[in-house]
Amino acid sequence: MPEVEITSRRLTAGLAGARVESALAPGLVALKTFDPPLEALAGRELDGVRRIGKMLAVEAGDLTLLIHLMSAGRLQLFDGRASLRDRASRVLVRLEDGHELRLREFGTQQRAWAKLLPANAVAEDDAVAGLGPDAYPAPPLDEFTALLAQPRHLHPLLRDQRTIAGIGRSWVDELLWTARLSPFQKGSDLGSADIDALHAACDEVLGAALDHYERVIADTVPDKLPMPLQVHRRAGEDCPRCGTRIEAIHFRDYVMCYCPEEQTGGRILKDRRLSRLLK
Ligand SMILES: [Zn+2]
Repeated sequence: MPEVEITSRRLTAGLAGARVESALAPGLVALKTFDPPLEALAGRELDGVRRIGKMLAVEAGDLTLLIHLMSAGRLQLFDGRASLRDRASRVLVRLEDGHELRLREFGTQQRAWAKLLPANAVAEDDAVAGLGPDAYPAPPLDEFTALLAQPRHLHPLLRDQRTIAGIGRSWVDELLWTARLSPFQKGSDLGSADIDALHAACDEVLGAALDHYERVIADTVPDKLPMPLQVHRRAGEDCPRCGTRIEAIHFRDYVMCYCPEEQTGGRILKDRRLSRLLK
């Protein structure tokens, strides 16, 4: 959420009122719709960029370009035109003032996507219709309590956008660490003090991250954001609160980090990567 939110704020400041000259999708697989065609954006004035969960919605009157950056995508405003040889380019929106709004994706996977939709169809789109309430600001406590009352582990439960929208792989570690909860505790087993702690953590952690980005990010959002993380990606370092070594569990496409002393009753959980090797 915080990375997408700061992107939407900076882009809105940079492009609201700009008129589209042309639009094209060099990364054809990224564009998931064909009607209306992307060229329909030409001549339209952009109103700004709104965040919907972890997605961005570029608003252009009665059309909306809905974008999911996934883990390696960036939506940025550039001074000039991209070289058509830039293999990171997925969607290019050229503006009459010479700027270019560019969806780029780094790495080898092509997972970021865009959909051009009638503005009044966005709420019913598959990617939007099933979203839970936004994690920031956190929903009222009774609603939050009801959302989490599921017999599922907290780590996947909080990342499930249908439960609550906006929490990704990095911030879930930070939220659980802040609330001193095990990633493997079940939502339905939480006591009211645990729920309170997690609810407060949403506002505290995500709000602080956003404040941090407001301070350190200028007009252009950089390729790599300076994420203010305390435990995620910090396996092997000392817990900033209690000094215990932060442990990690490696999954196929992400890493879960936690403080054993404060989150799992001193237990170091089995690393799935290790157990796979032992099979
Ligand atoms: Zn600790």
